[in-house]
Amino acid sequence: MNRKLNRRALLQLGFAATAGASAQSLAMGAAQSQEEKKAPSPQYAGVLVDTTLCIGCRKCEEACNRRNNLPRTAESFSDREALRTFRRPSENAFTVVNQIPGSPSPDQAGVPQTYAKVQCMHCLDPSCVSACIVGALRKSADGAVVYNPTICIGCRYCQVACPFEIPAYEFQEALTPRVRKCEFCADRVRGTGANPACASSCPTEALVFGRRAELLAMAKDRLKRRPDRYINHVYGENEVGGTSWLYLAGRPVKEIGLLDLPGTAPPRLTEEIQHGIFRYGMIPIAFYGLLSYLWYRNLQRPDDLPDVSAGRYPGRGPEGGAE
Ligand code: SF4
Ligand code: SF4
Ligand code: SF4
Repeated sequence: MNRKLNRRALLQLGFAATAGASAQSLAMGAAQSQEEKKAPSPQYAGVLVDTTLCIGCRKCEEACNRRNNLPRTAESFSDREALRTFRRPSENAFTVVNQIPGSPSPDQAGVPQTYAKVQCMHCLDPSCVSACIVGALRKSADGAVVYNPTICIGCRYCQVACPFEIPAYEFQEALTPRVRKCEFCADRVRGTGANPACASSCPTEALVFGRRAELLAMAKDRLKRRPDRYINHVYGENEVGGTSWLYLAGRPVKEIGLLDLPGTAPPRLTEEIQHGIFRYGMIPIAFYGLLSYLWYRNLQRPDDLPDVSAGRYPGRGPEGGAE
């Protein structure tokens, strides 16, 4: 048996070993992921957003800005001009209210102007949490999806994974950029039952804070009582597996800027792959280390390498033919 490993054999050995180790890692990761999945708690907090009651006053935006110590905007929060431009939450605004013009639609006699608040939906099965390979995003006991900047590595997988396109990133921060989004005023709500700042400030009760299960019942009761006022849909009851924030609207949700999403959470394949690799990544990393060492050692043996300068290859004559 040849005592020296040629590079092809070495690579085959390394890839086979690494693939085996990775497969084992993924299987272990998948099994653990399955174990960790739990049914949504009936105790999860939520907010019912009744867009038919919103008057576009932007008090919620202002309260959120203050509560989270965000930079003051150039315009005053009482300036309603900002409502006319369709906005998305950003690193400096965890929630925004958009104004959607009224319009007659074929199946409705006339649709009034609508205002729709946008923020993190605090998904029951959050894709951002699934995608985060270091656990910087997690779902807390009351359902809030919260962020720990001290362990975030800035990969921004959460941005890509979020079906609602919510997480923002502090690109302008050179040293300590953070992912930024609504965290449901988590420290205020947790254990106290206090309203989040936006819901506290809403003058029309367009935002109602409570237990998600109770809010869902409230929403369905409103649909039953006022079929003339609402379309028969509680947005967030089922979208991407359900969300802690629920919406009622007087017109199709697509018309008011809410994304039309499937009723199931996005596949967890990436979570299983990523978490498997990171939890048990030492096995493939060790093989890559061994592979690198053997490769380096092989490079120290010039007799194993093709003698290109002389036009000779091992086992072949000067013209490339067999010796
Ligand atoms: S809306 Fe996006 S950021 Fe918020 S919990 Fe769901 S996946 Fe995460
Ligand atoms: S829950 Fe708190 S952080 Fe989230 S939008 Fe409302 S005020 Fe802002
Ligand atoms: S505070 Fe209430 S009424 Fe005013 S914009 Fe926000 S959700 Fe609408």
